[in-house]
Amino acid sequence: MPDERDERDPKMLWRWAGRAIRPWIGWVFIGLGALLILLGYLGVSGEAIVAKQIPYLVSGGIGGLFLCIVGAYLLGAEELRKGSGRHDHLERLVEELHAVLLTRPDAPSSDTGIDAAGNGAEPAAVLAVRGGESFHRQGCVMVADKDAEELTLETARSRGLSPCPLCEPASASV
Ligand SMILES: [Zn+2]
Repeated sequence: MPDERDERDPKMLWRWAGRAIRPWIGWVFIGLGALLILLGYLGVSGEAIVAKQIPYLVSGGIGGLFLCIVGAYLLGAEELRKGSGRHDHLERLVEELHAVLLTRPDAPSSDTGIDAAGNGAEPAAVLAVRGGESFHRQGCVMVADKDAEELTLETARSRGLSPCPLCEPASASV
């Protein structure tokens, strides 16, 4: 009586069986080949008449050798498959590492033109000390402990203020 569970998806079962058995098929072939050669040898040594040895040589010797070669080929193919699997794995690791290195937060960003410190982007609001001649980014040490007024960049420029050379809230050439 057949097991019904196995008939539900025979393709999956065969695929699974193929994967599980594949590494062993080579050895099975080599073992059978060795067995045939051994039987052929026993047959040959048991037959005194040369003409009667030939069938043993053909089936045992040549058949056994053939099975051994097929087994060795299957083993080699399995090794190659494993090897290429390792190779793919290494390649994927390198790609992932590369991606991680490229997406480091302090890596230069190509599309915004802003580097790690935020230099290059013009802030929407800047700070200016009353009576001073320059404007600053939020958090600049030059205005850290001073009473600074928050302005838009346009207002700071219209007042004739120049960008601080330390925090460089804007390019000085404008
Ligand atoms: Zn500053």
